[in-house]
Amino acid sequence: MSLLELDGVNSYYGESHILRDVTMDVEEGQIIALLGRNGAGKTTTLRSITGARPPDVRSGTIRFDGTDITGNPPENVSALGLSLVPEERRMFSNLTVRENLHVPDISRNLLNRLGRPMETGKTGLSDEEVYEQFPRLDERRDQKAGTLSGGEQQMLAIARTLKQDTELLMLDEPSEGLAPQIVQDVLDIIQRIADQGKTILLVEQNAAAAMKLADYCYVLDQGSIVFEGPSEELQANDEVRKEYLGV
Ligand code: ATP
Repeated sequence: MSLLELDGVNSYYGESHILRDVTMDVEEGQIIALLGRNGAGKTTTLRSITGARPPDVRSGTIRFDGTDITGNPPENVSALGLSLVPEERRMFSNLTVRENLHVPDISRNLLNRLGRPMETGKTGLSDEEVYEQFPRLDERRDQKAGTLSGGEQQMLAIARTLKQDTELLMLDEPSEGLAPQIVQDVLDIIQRIADQGKTILLVEQNAAAAMKLADYCYVLDQGSIVFEGPSEELQANDEVRKEYLGV
């Protein structure tokens, strides 16, 4: 069953037409990779899905779990169980690991007070479940986030997202800036989250790593999908890999 569907999506930054008729199908329980070079439109695709502005989605439809979410504000979209770990990770470097993990609770309370309650009362992992699943964060509970290594910060960003009730986890370049050995740790965590039944949409420039992890891949170039197929098919397709991914 499709959990997320994009049908002919066209997105713009002002008058710049960035996404061109993007159609994608994210099957429940799978790891889907969205690949492509710098500037291909990967982040724009994720932002279009979450309802972040900019960009403007001017035509096409985005459906999550059968509900049309095109143009819905981000807090409504995330309340449905769709979460994004953004590329820049957005840590509060002067707050501790424990405090950073409480940020989702604080935002939820704030939205309630503003009279814009999240639509579900459901929550994701408890603090204890987070520490069980991320032993590194457990060891560093009282350490300031700014003093964590890149890999640990990425783990914290993922853990914080899982504190919300999440069915579809989208990750924007989780391996960015990490040492190769740490990249593997982060990929193992993503695999484990998938094994626990979550659906994953993974945006990566590190195509080699993403292809290993993903069930199915989409390749974007200049805002258009130029390839889609099972990972093995992409791995075997030298032409597409060289032309659009440089690997
Ligand atoms: P990267 O790995 O660099 O993030 P990407 O595939 O995620 O690459 P996008 O960030 O989606 O690419 O960018 C797609 C295009 O949209 C690029 O040409 C970029 O310059 C342009 N763009 C991105 N953000 C904006 C913005 N806020 N305003 C105008 N143009 C933008």
